[in-house]
Amino acid sequence: MIMRRLLIFALAAAACWGVPGAHAADKLRVVATTTDLKALTEAVGGNLVEVDALARGSQNPHDLEVRPSLMIKVRRADLLVMNGLELDMWAEVVVQGANNPKVIPGAPGRVDVSEGIAVLEVPTTRVDRSMGDVHPVGNPHYTGDPGLVPIMTANILEGLARLSPGSRPTFERNREEFVRRVDQAMSGWKQKLEPFRGAKIVQYHPDFVYLFARFGLVKAGAIEDRPGIPPTPDHLVRLIATMKQDRVRLVVVEPWNDIKLAERIAQEAGAKVRTLAPGVGSVKEADTYLDMIDYNVRSVAEALQ
Ligand SMILES: [Zn+2]
Repeated sequence: MIMRRLLIFALAAAACWGVPGAHAADKLRVVATTTDLKALTEAVGGNLVEVDALARGSQNPHDLEVRPSLMIKVRRADLLVMNGLELDMWAEVVVQGANNPKVIPGAPGRVDVSEGIAVLEVPTTRVDRSMGDVHPVGNPHYTGDPGLVPIMTANILEGLARLSPGSRPTFERNREEFVRRVDQAMSGWKQKLEPFRGAKIVQYHPDFVYLFARFGLVKAGAIEDRPGIPPTPDHLVRLIATMKQDRVRLVVVEPWNDIKLAERIAQEAGAKVRTLAPGVGSVKEADTYLDMIDYNVRSVAEALQ
């Protein structure tokens, strides 16, 4: 009887150890604050990770409501992947409630994907967050630029390899493959937007400055006077005048913006409105990271045609 039990145990153990990395128990449990970071982490981690995002694609990641369900996700995490640049500061409240020492500030189970990114729109004067400005240390929406994929995925790779050093070669292979796919798509995106180099575009919230900078498009202003702050009537009058003077033909919005307001402004200035995808899963055409970039590039090119 004992022999038989041992045999069953041995068979079960062999089944578990037979296929390294294939069992849920072996996988690194990763929580990313946004769907973009989830997609990039999955690209590097492959089947060695199980990734959950705290903000859904349909939610504005600037002001996520902290719920107990988010704390439960973080409680089980080995690694927390964050955007940084104060986009996802709410995640610190989640971490405090999660009581998981692996992912507290300074612990090895932390990745700040913004490390090494050349930050755009860093304020030249001191910005007081209490005034409502949500970009006090510069523009945090860098994940929208596919040209930054090598840096972003390198940061994620270091975090994963820190926790699972034996899997580093696999993470490196996965990352190289993903970077290669992005490079391939990049030449098509550049071709599509090349005819519109220098085109001026107004944004509702400055969510696409990194994308625009990559492809030579010019940010001509924003409906929000300051990031995260509803516009004043004076600002809108000035914006419409500038749009007419600069012949701005396109206003881009996020799905959660006041689209009616954007349409009124565009109509007065003789421009079109297009909803772009500020994150993976934010519109139905943006299911994956590559699809999101593709959708944004296509939407801008079609609108400026
Ligand atoms: Zn923002």
